[in-house]
Amino acid sequence: LLREGDLPPARHYIDGAFIDGAFVDGPFVDGAFPDARHEQFTDIVDPCTEEVIARVPEGGAADVDRAVRAALAAQEQWARVVPSDRSALLHRIADRLAEHKDVLVRLETANAGKPLAVARDDVDGTIDTFRFMAGALRATTSMAAGEYAAGHLSVILREPLGVVGVVTPWNYPLMMAAWKLAPSLAAGNSVVIKPSEQTPLTTLKFAELVGDLLPPGVVNVVTGLGPTVGHRLAEHPDIALVALTGSVGSGRAVARTAADTLKRVHLELGGKAPVVIFEDADLKAAAASLRTAGYWNSGQECGAGCRVLVHAGVADRFVAELVREVGEIVVGDPRAGEEVEMGSLVSKAHYDRVLAHLERAVAKGARAVAGGGALDGPGWFVAPTVLTDVPEGAEIAREEVFGPVVTVETFTDEDEAVRRANDVPFGLAASVWTESARRSHRVAGRLDFGTVWVNAHLTLANEVPWGGFKGSGYGRDLSLYALDDYSRTKHVMHHHGR
Ligand code: NAD
Repeated sequence: LLREGDLPPARHYIDGAFIDGAFVDGPFVDGAFPDARHEQFTDIVDPCTEEVIARVPEGGAADVDRAVRAALAAQEQWARVVPSDRSALLHRIADRLAEHKDVLVRLETANAGKPLAVARDDVDGTIDTFRFMAGALRATTSMAAGEYAAGHLSVILREPLGVVGVVTPWNYPLMMAAWKLAPSLAAGNSVVIKPSEQTPLTTLKFAELVGDLLPPGVVNVVTGLGPTVGHRLAEHPDIALVALTGSVGSGRAVARTAADTLKRVHLELGGKAPVVIFEDADLKAAAASLRTAGYWNSGQECGAGCRVLVHAGVADRFVAELVREVGEIVVGDPRAGEEVEMGSLVSKAHYDRVLAHLERAVAKGARAVAGGGALDGPGWFVAPTVLTDVPEGAEIAREEVFGPVVTVETFTDEDEAVRRANDVPFGLAASVWTESARRSHRVAGRLDFGTVWVNAHLTLANEVPWGGFKGSGYGRDLSLYALDDYSRTKHVMHHHGR
C-alpha cells in the first residue's frame, strides 16, 4: 500500500507495504524537523496486517515548550497577514493537499485500517475544510461599528487568540486535525498539534507537505502520549485555547488541567447516536442509510447511527431490511481493492474492548442477528453486527462501543421514543425517520443532540456546525461557529465628544 516517499521524513525506509524501523527525526517545530535525539519511540502499526510501518518519537513536555515558544514568536506576524493573503495561503494549503491526495489516502489507510473510499472521503473533506475557512475568514473579519453611547464610536474587532493547542484522536486523524487547524489558522492563531499516538503519520505528512507555505512556527507537530504531551498543552500558560477531539475521560482531564490557567477549552467528545424510526418511515431507506451510518469507518465514528429505536409495529420488517444490507457489507484489507467497504478496527486493545462489549451484551440477553464476533486475522477485524432483544438501559445501548455494532430496541409511542433516545449521557447526534413533517419538527425539537438529521444520518458539510451537548462536550467544529470559537471579540470605544 505504501510506496517510497510516502512516510514523513524517516531515516530508514523499506519499499513496499511493510516498512520496518522507519522513524521521523523529531517533532516538527519552527518550520523544520530538527535533528532531535529521542530515546523513546512509538511503533506505528498497520491494523490490517499488524505490521510495524513506522516508529515515531515519543515527545515530552520539553518538546511542547519548544514548540510553544516557536508558535508564540510566529503568531504576531501571522496575525498581521491581511485576510486576502491569509486566505490565499489557506487555498494553497488546500491545493497542496489535493496534489498529494493519493499519498495521504494511502497513508491514512495504512495507519488507521480504513478502506480507500473512507480515506478518500476524509482527505476530500480536509481539503474542503481549508477552502471553506479560506473564504469564511474574508467574510467575517470586520464586525460592527457604530455609535451606541452619545459621543462615542464603537468598533468591534475579531482578534486571534494567540497559540492554540490541538489534541486529535485516531479515527479521522487528518480530518480532525484539519477541523482544528483550518479555523485556527484562518483566525490568525498559530498552532501546536499533538496527533493520536496511534495515528500520527498524516499529520506529520501534512507538516511536511505544507511546511514551506507557512511562516516557520505557525504550525508545529509534537508526537507523543496524552498524559505527557497532551497534558502539557492543556497546562501551558502561553496557550490560549486547547481543543481536543477524543473520549470523555480525556476531555475531563484536559478541562481540569486547563482550569488552572483559565484557558479556553473546546471539546468534541463521544457519542451514542439514536436512530428513531417511526411506523410511517421509509424502512428500506433507513436500512440502506444505516449500512453506511452504522458501519462507516468500522463504526469508529462519534456520530455513528449505532442505537436504533424502532416502532414495535414495524420492527421485524426493519430488522430484516437491515440484516440484508449488513450481510452485503464487504469487509477486508483495503489492499483487496475498491470494493472493500469496511476495514479493521484501529488496534488490538480497541478490538479486545469491542469484543468484550459484545460478549457482555449477549450474556445479558441480546441476540446477534448479524455478525457478533471477530473475523479471521491477521488484522483486527470484527464482523458488522446487529443486536436485537436489547433490554432497556443495557450497557451496550448506553455506552460508546465505537465498533461496527448497531443495537435495535423498540418503542410504542412518540413520548417513549423521545425519552429513551435522550436517555444517554451523550448529546452529539441523532436521527428521526418519518414521512410526517409535523412529527419530524416536533421530535427534532425535543431531541437533546447537537445535530439531528431527518430521514438521513451522518451527512456533514463544512458550512454547518458539528458539536455536542451534555457529555459530548462543548464548542463547535466546522462552519462560521468554529471560526468564532477560535477568535476573541474586542470592543474599542472612541470618545469624540460631539
Ligand atoms: P482518546 O481520548 O483516547 O484520545 C484522544 C487524544 O487525547 C489522543 O491524542 C490522546 O493522546 C489524547 N489524550 C489522552 N489523554 C489525555 C490527557 N490526559 N490530556 C491530554 N490529552 C490526552 O480518544 P481516542 O480513543 O483517540 O478517540 C476516540 C474517541 O474520540 C471516542 O470517544 C470518540 O467518540 C471521540 N471522537 C469524537 C469526535 C467528535 O467530533 N465529537 C470525533 C472523533 C472522535
